[in-house]
Amino acid sequence: MTELALYEPAICLPKGIKVFVTTRYGGCSQGHWQSFNLAGHVQDDPAAVAQNRVLLRDQLMRATGSASLDLQWLNQVHGTKVHHALAHITEPLPQADALYTTAVNLVCGVLTADCLPVVFCSMDREEIAVAHAGWRGLQKGVLENTLACFKAPAAQIIAWLGPAIGPCHFEVGSEVREAFLAAAVAGTALATEAAFSASAHEGKWFADLYQLARIRLLTAGLIQISGEPACTVCNNTTWYSYRDSPVTGRFATLVVKT
Ligand SMILES: [Zn+2]
Repeated sequence: MTELALYEPAICLPKGIKVFVTTRYGGCSQGHWQSFNLAGHVQDDPAAVAQNRVLLRDQLMRATGSASLDLQWLNQVHGTKVHHALAHITEPLPQADALYTTAVNLVCGVLTADCLPVVFCSMDREEIAVAHAGWRGLQKGVLENTLACFKAPAAQIIAWLGPAIGPCHFEVGSEVREAFLAAAVAGTALATEAAFSASAHEGKWFADLYQLARIRLLTAGLIQISGEPACTVCNNTTWYSYRDSPVTGRFATLVVKT
């Protein structure tokens, strides 16, 4: 990948819907946060984060051709709450892990460093959403809660999975596997089991977040599911990874209706 601060993943989207993913490149943060950190809660210099957010806004305006864009962020807590964003910015930041809107030119963003970002849009281009799904949020139903906001039927909703820690690196304890198996609805137990492979470390498993998310989305009735096949740990020069380095920045996955 060339060193772009922001790119549009290759997704088949309805006209006017745009998805963007940021990288570590092109910002002004230093050290552990080098360089395009967009999160204010990770001990980075607040002035650098503010500057990076200005840069992001400029790049989004250029990429969308929209003269006025607002960006809505969340206070993410690994929960399952969805914030329904109206046409204006909500401040202080809503405590939630997903954003849903029908508003135009309101960019909805989540920040991650290994957790799975999931973008949604309805094929009639009316509704968009983005969710932050770590294993806890995914297991407790953040994706299902996000889909529940949509008026469009599930078969008319497109989902795209962004860069996240891959099954090559996401080692978890047995409790994570047990939690997913306990929550698996009828007919998905085998697929859920297959999303975990035994690690060489006793009592540990490698979890496939993409697969776990796909199971939930297919169960919810979605048909069009695609994703970024990139692991954030394997690609830690492109994206931030918390597993790789606990003191680090966050990159953004964004969706907007123009
Ligand atoms: Zn990996």
